[in-house]
Amino acid sequence: MKLDKFYINGEWVSPVKDEKINIINPSDESVIGTLNVGSQQDIDKAVEAAKTAFSSYARTSVDERLDLLKEIRNQFKNRFEDFVEAITKEMGSPVKLSRGAQAAVGLGHLKTAIRVLEEHKFEYPFNGYTVRHEPIGVCGLITPWNWPINQTISKLGPCLASGCTAILKPSEISPVSANIIAEIMDAAKVPKGVFNMVHGLGPVVGEALSNHKDVDMMSFTGSTRGGVAVAQAAAKSVKRVSQELGGKSPNIIFDDEKFEQSVTVGVQKIMENTGQSCNAPTRMIVPKNRQNEALEIAKNVAEKLITGDPTKEDTDIGPLVSQAQFDKVQRLIESGIKAGAQLVTGGLGKPVGLNAGYFVKPTIFGDVDNSMEIAQEEIFGPVLSVIPYEDIDNAVQIANDTSYGLSAYVCGSDSEKLRSVARQIRAGQIHVNYGSGGTNAPFGGFKQSGNGREKAEWGLEEFLETKAIME
Ligand code: NAD
Repeated sequence: MKLDKFYINGEWVSPVKDEKINIINPSDESVIGTLNVGSQQDIDKAVEAAKTAFSSYARTSVDERLDLLKEIRNQFKNRFEDFVEAITKEMGSPVKLSRGAQAAVGLGHLKTAIRVLEEHKFEYPFNGYTVRHEPIGVCGLITPWNWPINQTISKLGPCLASGCTAILKPSEISPVSANIIAEIMDAAKVPKGVFNMVHGLGPVVGEALSNHKDVDMMSFTGSTRGGVAVAQAAAKSVKRVSQELGGKSPNIIFDDEKFEQSVTVGVQKIMENTGQSCNAPTRMIVPKNRQNEALEIAKNVAEKLITGDPTKEDTDIGPLVSQAQFDKVQRLIESGIKAGAQLVTGGLGKPVGLNAGYFVKPTIFGDVDNSMEIAQEEIFGPVLSVIPYEDIDNAVQIANDTSYGLSAYVCGSDSEKLRSVARQIRAGQIHVNYGSGGTNAPFGGFKQSGNGREKAEWGLEEFLETKAIME
C-alpha cells in the first residue's frame, strides 16, 4: 500500500517533498505500506484552497448543505466495509468493534449533523436587534488514531454543516481509513477546496496548521500534551481552539448495588478497544468492605475475554496500537506493582502464544491508592485500577482528585443519590448506570480534558461565530 498523495482543492496531489514513514499492522508488526508525510508548503497549499473556497461555500443555503451531507452519508454507506477492514488493519481494533462501533458511529454523526442543520436557527430577532450565526472560516481538524472515524466525522459533519471549509490532518498512525474519508468527499462532489487533507507528523504539519495566519479555528482531539502545543501555536493569531483531550474516568459503584452487573460492565468497558478510549472507566471506586467481591468478579470477567487476532469475529481484545504504546503500558503496569497495588490478574509481558504484535495482558489492580501513578496517569491500555472508598463523600473526593474531567460513571439503585453524586463530579459526561447519549449528548471535558464540546447542537456551535445587527 502506497499512500503518497494528499487531497487538496478537489484533487489528489503529490506532496512538495518526498518523505515517507511506514504503516504498521500492530497485530503482527508487519509493514503494510508507506505514507508520505507533508510539510509547511503542503499546508500552505491546502489553506489557500480552503480560504478561496470559503467565500462561496459560506454563502450556500442550508438546503444545499443538507443535500451535500446526505450524499456524503450515502457514499459513507457504500464504503462501510472498507472502513471496517482499514481500522482493524491499521490500529488493531477487533473486527466486531470496528463494524459495530468504530465505523457505525460515523453514520451516527452524519445523521445527527443533518438533524441539527435542519433545526438550527441561523438568524433570529433578539431584544430589538438581529442575531446571526455565521461560519467561523477556515478550520484545521487534527485527529487521533484510537477512534479514527468517530473523531474525524464528529468534526467534519458539523464543520461542513456550518458552512466552514476544512483541512484535515489525520493521525499518521491511522491514514488508511482517513484516505477512505477523502475518497468519500470526492465521490460526494464536495465543492473543490471545501475539504482538504494533508497527512503528516504532528510537530510538522499539525504545527504548521495551528500556526497558520489564515486558519480561523483549530479543532483538536488527542493527548493533553498535543492539545497544549496546538493552543500555544494558535495563540499568536488569536484562533479559536477546541480541545478534546485525555481522561482518567472514575466509576463509582454504590454499596446498594448488585456488583455482578455493574462490575462486569465496568470491566468490559475498560477492556473495549484494548483500553484505548479517552472516556474509558479506568478507576473503579468501590466500597472498602466489598472490594474483595468486586475484585473476584472483575478477575473472572477479564480472564474470560479473548485476546488475539483482531480479524477473528470472536476476539474481544486486539493489540495496542504501537511499540511506543506497548512500552508505556508495560512501564505503568510495573509502576503499579512497585507502588504496592495488588495485582489481581494480568501483569507484565505478552499473553501466552502472542509473541508478534503489541499484545498485552488484560490487567486488574486492587487496593489502589488514588495518588499512585496508575490512578493518575492515562495508561491507554487494558488496565483497571480498583480503588476502595470509606463513604460516598470519600468516593466523590477520589473521583474528583484528578487533573482530568472527561467522563464519569456512577452505578447504584437510589436515583436521588445517583443524581446528587452526578452533580458533584467535575466531568463533561456522567453515565448513570452506564446510560449513553450516543451522538446526541454534548461531549467534552472539564479541567485538562479540554475546552469545547462536540456532538449535536454543541458540535455545530463550535464552528459558528455570533454576529449582532443593530438597526
Ligand atoms: P496525540 O496527541 O499524540 O496525537 C493526536 C493528533 O495530534 C495526531 O494527529 C498527531 O499527529 C497530532 N499532534 C501531535 N503533536 C502535535 C503538535 N505538537 N501539534 C499539532 N498536532 C500534533 O494523541 P494520540 O496518541 O493520537 O491519541 C490518544 C490521545 O487522544 C489520548 O490522550 C486520548 O485520551 C485522546 N483522545 C481524546 C478524545 C476526546 O474526545 N476527548 C478522543 C479520543 C482520544
